Amino acid sequence: MKIFKFFMLAILALSVVQCTNEGENDAQPEITTSSQQDVPSEVLSKLQSMGFDTDKTSIVITKGGYIVDGDIFFTEEALRENNLQKQAFFGIVDCNRAGNIRIQNALGNNAAGRGFQRGVNLWNNVNGTTLRLIPVTRNPDIVVRLARPGEIGGWGRGEFPTNGREGRLIVLNLNEPSIDGDAVTAREWGNILTHEIGHNIGLLHIEQSQFGTFVPGTPTFDRRSIMTSGSNPGVVFNANRVSNGDRRTVRRMYSNNNNRLCGR
Ligand SMILES: [Zn+2]
Repeated sequence: MKIFKFFMLAILALSVVQCTNEGENDAQPEITTSSQQDVPSEVLSKLQSMGFDTDKTSIVITKGGYIVDGDIFFTEEALRENNLQKQAFFGIVDCNRAGNIRIQNALGNNAAGRGFQRGVNLWNNVNGTTLRLIPVTRNPDIVVRLARPGEIGGWGRGEFPTNGREGRLIVLNLNEPSIDGDAVTAREWGNILTHEIGHNIGLLHIEQSQFGTFVPGTPTFDRRSIMTSGSNPGVVFNANRVSNGDRRTVRRMYSNNNNRLCGR
């Protein structure tokens, strides 16, 4: 199992650095280099202030920003933000925005498209939070679309919030087989989408929490978190719902409670 995991990681690492060509005017980041030495020192220190161990975390320079830890796209602007109070631990979507995030299913008629509603529901089903994702067919805040061939490695990629606004794009890669080698099912795509939406509303990988990036008052390690990184994809694939720790996290971030973290 260890060897298998290492193999999967190696594949992941290789596929992440695949190059891609694409059109101009689209939100799709273009991977230009994978050399960490080219990452500006202020970007590295910002990521360090967010708790990333930049010696051990993959950072890929791409069009308009950086892909960090495999599947999290940070815009240049997000990494220039100086609102440390807001970003000390994570990015937060403004409270009023988080209550009405318009999300569009642009996946088409395939297993991923059929899993879309589940991906949305797993967050909307958490009670005690003001976070709401509203499926729409026009004027979306978040577009969920298929990856173009070679655009990303792995199953999907989300985008961290920028300046109080949720990440704008999620891409899912239909060409990536499931962990058992079969095609990814609609249910599994739903779970993967839930993970990526987590990034778009400000969650990093749960493994980061051990190094200081965590939401205060929530578990520092949660082996059932839907926000586990690619090293443990089975948790994401097999989840029945988001974990208790994930629920506590979004309640702490987005709620009507006085101690909510959005809007501070
Ligand atoms: Zn992720």
